[in-house]
Amino acid sequence: MNSPLPRKVVVVGGTRGIGAAITSTFVAAGADVLLTGRSVPDHVVETFRRAGCRAGQTVEGLALDATAPDFAPRLAESARTSLGGLDVLCLNAGVFPNKPLADLTHTDVREVFATNVESQILAVAACVPLLRESRRGRIVLTSSITGPLTGFPGWSHYGASKAAQLGFMRTAALELAPYGITVNAVAPGNVVTEGLEELGAAYLAQMAATVPLGRLARPREIADVVEFLAGDGASFITGQVITVDGGQTLPESPEAVLPTGPDDRS
Ligand code: NAP
Repeated sequence: MNSPLPRKVVVVGGTRGIGAAITSTFVAAGADVLLTGRSVPDHVVETFRRAGCRAGQTVEGLALDATAPDFAPRLAESARTSLGGLDVLCLNAGVFPNKPLADLTHTDVREVFATNVESQILAVAACVPLLRESRRGRIVLTSSITGPLTGFPGWSHYGASKAAQLGFMRTAALELAPYGITVNAVAPGNVVTEGLEELGAAYLAQMAATVPLGRLARPREIADVVEFLAGDGASFITGQVITVDGGQTLPESPEAVLPTGPDDRS
């Protein structure tokens, strides 16, 4: 049992995909939640509220580009004004454009690193005072298997950014440990989200065939691990990464993935 959950949660990149599942999970657990994205339509926030909000519970949206120069101070300020503090900082915003290494431009690499790495470092830096006040501060980064554990043609810059997140995490965990703040990461395999679906049905089918458990992850399966890392059950875990990939990184060769009957792929 993973309770009680801290009350004040920020989900950066909380509008859709894995982030929406993280938002829903904390809302359902009764937390006050501030979710961000480049755009946060009112109807998206309303959907989260209607799905699980209790009387007196706060669910707010904040349209804030994580690559903007004022992103981090505005995020911290909004956590203070909307939530009155901060217990859990979930840094999930990420982009994964596919482009061969030989075609990469300065702009391509900057966009991926600004979104996936710089925003996380700056958000943590700006939110340290709030997390210290919490006395049970938790930071959970969304990394990936791509980069830390695996490679995939077209994602050299993305993989580098996801590995960089973990390098940041380890030293951040050391610097923040004296304040009781933990810093951990979840490393998903392929998760069926809007962003992944944009890569096409052929890609999804090809990737599902490489997963020993016979399917891609559901966003909720990543959110459950984020919830664990933010809860009391993970109070003594810091600087760690939990891989959630259905065994995708285990096989030595495609032959090591055994066939799964259609009835078992639910
Ligand atoms: P997604 O469906 O594309 O959603 C991405 C989220 O990040 C959205 O809420 C988006 O909101 C937000 N976002 C993107 N750029 C942003 C920016 N510049 N500023 C603020 N918010 C921004 O992606 P996903 O598949 O759920 O992936 C979420 C995270 O998981 C990413 O870090 C990704 O690298 C990681 N991941 C995903 C998979 C997978 O298979 N799906 C696997 C491993 C790791 P807006 O669109 O409103 O900006």
